Amino acid sequence: QATFTPEQGWSGQLQPYAPLQMDPSAQVLNYGQSIFEGMKAQRTAGGNIVLFRPDENAARMMAGAERLSMPPPPPELFLEAVISTVRANQHYVPPLGRGSLYIRPLLLGTGPILGLGPAPSYTLVVYCAAVGAYFKGGQLTPIDLIVEQRFHRAAPGGMGGTKAAGNYSPVLVVQLAAKRSGYADVLYLDAKTDTYLEEVSSCNIFTVKGNKITTPPLQGTILPGVTRKSVIQLARQLGYEVEEAPVSITEAMAADEIFTTGTAVVVSAVGSLTYKGEKKQFGERGEPTKVALQIYETLTALQQQRTKDTFGWLVPVV
Ligand code: PMP
Repeated sequence: QATFTPEQGWSGQLQPYAPLQMDPSAQVLNYGQSIFEGMKAQRTAGGNIVLFRPDENAARMMAGAERLSMPPPPPELFLEAVISTVRANQHYVPPLGRGSLYIRPLLLGTGPILGLGPAPSYTLVVYCAAVGAYFKGGQLTPIDLIVEQRFHRAAPGGMGGTKAAGNYSPVLVVQLAAKRSGYADVLYLDAKTDTYLEEVSSCNIFTVKGNKITTPPLQGTILPGVTRKSVIQLARQLGYEVEEAPVSITEAMAADEIFTTGTAVVVSAVGSLTYKGEKKQFGERGEPTKVALQIYETLTALQQQRTKDTFGWLVPVV
């Protein structure tokens, strides 16, 4: 845990997991200065514990902090906080292939303020928990998605490109309704035209048609996923033509495959997509589709150091 005041800058130390003390007039509780990150530490075939591209999370938190008028934590401080948290909790990292240690850095405007304005002081907290597969049914079970028709996740010029806590509470009502109807999650369309794919509640989306893989471009309304960026590079290396371009819902319904990417979901094949009552099935029921599986295998092999980390994406912490 680290704190920031304009007078003293950043300072922090390792602390036992405990509730946070906050003034009722803490900015975050009243006006929502809150952003977070999601990262994983994993055991590798070589017996190390590694982080995956943590510099990308540090950079994304800095960008989000700027957007929400918060002091960006210096990347060295962010990385030190993450690494020392993982080291202190290394015994909770599951064995190779049995899950990972999910790491959650939070940046909060914890200082008190009554009128609308930025907090006078800030807290960076990093906590972690051992996790397994994100979706019910396990990692390789394809997920059923439904296209949301009533709400949007982000507006142009809004905060969709940041990992602001406030982006997530509006999706709960949508996500719960979808889950009650048997879907794993919701796919959002763009707020302007209701035509183009944006992303899923907690992951980015890709479509596959022949040798071509397409993912929606970064225009400030979707999160610039670390997994998205990595999958673009890996898919190109595997020989696919990868394009960051708008994908209409009509094109998505006609795709050969769809998959989602994220730190939590890794790479998840989409088994079906439902739009305006029409359900499109991808691949064999219960089986991950071909390209999704290939990219999942390539990414996880790299992350677990079963193959060579040619990009230098892994940062050993133990
Ligand atoms: N979109 C949203 C809305 C997310 O919350 C996440 C998870 N951080 C992602 C995409 C995927 O990003 P990443 O690959 O960095 O986990």
